[in-house]
Amino acid sequence: MADEEYLALLDRAFSKVPELSAAGSDFVIPKADAFNEGNKSIIRNIAAIADKARRKPDEIAKYMSKELAVPVNVEEQRMIINGKFSADDLDKKIRRYFEIYVVCRECGKPDTHLEGAGRGMFYLVCEACGARYGVKSY
Ligand SMILES: [Zn+2]
Repeated sequence: MADEEYLALLDRAFSKVPELSAAGSDFVIPKADAFNEGNKSIIRNIAAIADKARRKPDEIAKYMSKELAVPVNVEEQRMIINGKFSADDLDKKIRRYFEIYVVCRECGKPDTHLEGAGRGMFYLVCEACGARYGVKSY
């Protein structure tokens, strides 16, 4: 195969890879409003975050607990994390949650839900574009 032919093939293969950006979607990931209280960290807007994600606060607490390796509870609309973490670190975790478990990687929209798939996996199902793909469970 001539080099040119090969490059043209590669070009075509790459053009089929879906865009990972959220172009075309005006969805904005909410910022975690967090502070420390003694040896605990509190996210005070977890209800609003869960609302945006269309997930239960308890579901996000489960993810945070796994990511941070400490117990996490939701009490009176606040997320209580049993450990001292910076607001910035907590915001990054929340952002990552949205990127992996909420925003569809095919179309960039947040109209999704998770389905249990067993074997350490979830399916992320997009109600906007119909995409369905496996993500690591938490
Ligand atoms: Zn989608």
